Amino acid sequence: MTSRVEEEPKAVITIDLWNRGNIHLLERVLANEHHLEIGVRDRSVELSDLTIIDATTLQRRESEIHQAREQAAPVVLPVLLIAEKRDLRNGVVERHLGRSVDDVVRIPSTAAELLTRIDNLLRLRRLSREQYARHRVTEQMLRGTARALRALNAGNEVLLRVQQEQELLDAICQIIIDEGRYPLTWVGFCATDEDGEPAGDVEVHSSAGSVDLPVAGAMTAAGPIARAMNGGGPQTVADLPQEPHAWPFEIARPDDLASALMLPITPHMGSEGVLAIYSRAQGDFSDEERDLLERLAANVMLGVGTIRADRDRERQRSAIHELAFSDPLTGLSNRTHLVARLDELLHASVERRLAILFVDLDHFKLVNDALGHVAGDEVLRQVSHRLANAVRGDDLVARQGGDEFIVVMSDEPRSEDGIAREPDPMPFARRARELATHIADKLREPLIVHGYERRVGVSIGISLYPEHGEAAELLIDKADTAMYGAKVGGSSSRIALYEPSMSQERRQRLSLEARLHRAVDGDELDLCYQPMVELGSGQIVGVEALLRWPQADGSFVAPSEFIPVAEETGLITGIGEWVLDTASRQIAEWRAQSLAIPVAVNISPGQLQLPGDHRRFADLVSPHVEPEWVELEVTESLLMANPEATESTLRAFTEQGFRLAIDDFGTGYSSLTRLQHLPIQTLKIDKAFVADLGRTRSGEGIVHSIIELARSLSIRPLAEGIETDGQRSMLLAEGCRWGQGHWFSHAVPADELVRLVRGEAIPPQASRVE
Ligand code: C2E
Ligand code: MG
Ligand code: MG
Repeated sequence: MTSRVEEEPKAVITIDLWNRGNIHLLERVLANEHHLEIGVRDRSVELSDLTIIDATTLQRRESEIHQAREQAAPVVLPVLLIAEKRDLRNGVVERHLGRSVDDVVRIPSTAAELLTRIDNLLRLRRLSREQYARHRVTEQMLRGTARALRALNAGNEVLLRVQQEQELLDAICQIIIDEGRYPLTWVGFCATDEDGEPAGDVEVHSSAGSVDLPVAGAMTAAGPIARAMNGGGPQTVADLPQEPHAWPFEIARPDDLASALMLPITPHMGSEGVLAIYSRAQGDFSDEERDLLERLAANVMLGVGTIRADRDRERQRSAIHELAFSDPLTGLSNRTHLVARLDELLHASVERRLAILFVDLDHFKLVNDALGHVAGDEVLRQVSHRLANAVRGDDLVARQGGDEFIVVMSDEPRSEDGIAREPDPMPFARRARELATHIADKLREPLIVHGYERRVGVSIGISLYPEHGEAAELLIDKADTAMYGAKVGGSSSRIALYEPSMSQERRQRLSLEARLHRAVDGDELDLCYQPMVELGSGQIVGVEALLRWPQADGSFVAPSEFIPVAEETGLITGIGEWVLDTASRQIAEWRAQSLAIPVAVNISPGQLQLPGDHRRFADLVSPHVEPEWVELEVTESLLMANPEATESTLRAFTEQGFRLAIDDFGTGYSSLTRLQHLPIQTLKIDKAFVADLGRTRSGEGIVHSIIELARSLSIRPLAEGIETDGQRSMLLAEGCRWGQGHWFSHAVPADELVRLVRGEAIPPQASRVE
C-alpha cells in the first residue's frame, strides 16, 4: 500500500492541534514520510493534502473548513480529527464525521493506526484528484465509488461507537449491505489450532446479505481467499463462476453473484482475516471503488485491533489487580486489599460497628518444618477454605500473611437469607466472640494433609470499631495484640478481646522474645534436677530435668514464662535438643561416678515433628547413654491435638527404648480408651490436685480415681507438687508410691543433686533456686 505513496512527492500535512503533547506525537510518527506544517495556525485547508485538527480547533474553524471542502468537491480536502474520549461522548464526532471531517482517530492510539488512517486519507485525496483531472469517470464507476464512500463513512461512525468485536463485525457487514447496496458480504478469520498456529481454515465470524451463510463452520481457504489472508493483498475476482475458491461454502452460490472482492484484515493481535464483498455485476469493483473498500477494510482491521488490544489490556489489568489484591496461595484478599476495604467501611457514611478478628494458627511453623512447605501450603489452603465457609458472605476474610488471617464482621443484622432482620439485641462484642468461637471450632476439626490427620489450634484476638480506634491499621494492630494476649494467656478457648493492658504486655513479650534469642545463642540456659522419690522411704528414684534461665541480677525467668515464647517462635526445637543432649551427658557423668539416676525430660508439643522424631531423639541420646535412662514427659494436650499421629510416634519412641510419662495428668481430657493403648510407664498427677488434697473433697476424689486408673492400666502414678508431709501420707494411703515436690527438694544444680543422692542431705532452703 505504501509503495505508491512513496513514488509521489511528499504530501503536505498541516497539524493544527491545541494539545502540544499530541503535536509532538504526530511529529514523531510522521516526520520521516511527510512534509509537516506545524504551528501555522488556521492555515487554509486547500493548501494541504491533509489537515489534522482536534475538537478545540475544529470548533473554531468549522464553518471555514466546511466551506472550503464544499468548494473543492469533487476533489477531497481530507481532514482528520484527533479525538479524546470525552469528544466521543459529547457528540462532537457524530456531528462532524462526513461533513467537515473524513476520519477520526481516538487517542491514545498506536503509530500503526495513525499511519494507516493518514495513508488512507491521502489516497482518497489523490484518487479524487485523478478522477477530476481525467474526467474519465464512467457512470458505473461513479455509482460504485459513491456507494463505497457511503459505506466507508457509515463504517467510521460504527468504529468509534462499538466496543465488542462481534458487534463491530456485524455492524460493518450490515452497513456494506445497506449503504453500499452490495448483495452479500462476510468477514472471516483464519482458524488456529490448539497452539495458536494457523490451521489453514477460515471461520466466518459475521455475514450479511441475500444468503444465510454458516457462521461457525470452518472451511479450507484456497485461491483468492487464501492469497488475501496470506499477504497477497486485495484480490479482485472479476468473473465469479470461473473462480470456485471464491465461494468456499457447501451451500450453492446464488446465480446472481457475478464478481467479488477479498480484502485482507490483518489486525496486529490475533489471526489474519478477510473481508469478502460480492457484487451482481461482472467486472465490478473499479480501482476507485476498491480503494475505498480497502480503506474500509483497513479501518475494520484497526477497529478489531483496538478492541483486541483493549480486551487484552483489560485482561492484564484484572490479572494485575488480582495479583495486587489477592493472595495467590489461598485466593483470599491480601493485606493491601483488606486495609483498603476496611478504610472504605470506616469512612462510609453508614454508621456501623465493626469487629476485627485476628486469627493465628498455633505452631504452624512446626507443621512447615516437619512436613515441608508443600504440606504447609496445603494446610493454609484448607484453613482459608474453612474460614471462608465459617463466616457470612458479606464478612471480609483476608490473609494477613504467613499463618495469620483476618475477618472483619460488621453489625448489620445478620441473616442467612439476605433479608434484613431486626437489629440483634445481643451486645456486639459478644457476637464477635461468638463468631470467633465458631471459627475456632471449625478450624480445630481435623484436616487430612498428605494422608496425615492434622489438627490446628488457633488463637483469635478481637478489636472493635469504634471503641479501639478509627483507623484500619490501628484496629488490625490491636486485634493482633489481643491475639497475642489470647495465645500467652493460655486460656483454653484462646480467644481474647483487646484490652489496653495488652499493649504493655505485648511490648514486654517482644523484648522477652529478643532476650530469649540471645540467651539461646549465648548458651545462657541451665538445667536443674528435681528428685523424684519413693514416698515411703524418701529414696531418690530419678530426677526431672527442668530448664532455668538465670538473669544477671541472680533471679530466674520461670519456664512458664519463656517456654510458651520458645514454642511460639520455634526456638523450642533447638532448646529441646540441647536439653536432651545435656541431660544424657549428665546421666553418663553420674554413671561414671557410680550413680544410677534416670532423668525425665519434658517435651513440648512444638518439639514433636512426628515422623522421624524417634530417630532424631535417639541420635541425641545414644552417644551418651541407652535411651532406657531417659523418660520423655509429654502432656495430655499433645495426645488430644493429634491422636493418631502422636500414638504412632510414641510407639516408635518406646521401640527405641525411651520410657514415656504423661505430664500434668487430669488437666486435659484424654479419653481413657486412648490411654489404654499407649505404651506409657508413668502418669504424673498434676500438682493442682495434690494441692487440693485435704482441702476439698473433689480434689481427693480426682486423685483417688487417677490412682485407680493408673493401677488398672499397670501404669506408675507419680504425684507432682508435694509440699507437705500431710500430702505425702495421704497419697501413700491412696496407694500412690511415687512423687516429687518441694517437701523433698526443689530443682537443684547437678552437683547439688549428687550430694542429695549420696545422702549428704542439705536443708531444702539452701538448695532453693526457684
Ligand atoms: P512440669 O513438667 O509439670 O514441671 C513441674 C513443675 O512444678 C516445675 O516448674 C517444678 O519446679 C514445679 N514444682 C516442683 N515441685 C513443686 C512443688 O512442691 N510446688 C509447686 N508449686 N511447684 C513445684 P518449673 O520448673 O517452673 O517448670 C514449669 C513447666 O515448664 C514444667 O512443668 C514444664 O512443663 C516446663 N518445662 C520445664 N523445663 C522444661 C524443658 O526442659 N522442656 C520443656 N519442653 N518444658 C519444660
Ligand atoms: Mg514435667
Ligand atoms: Mg507437671
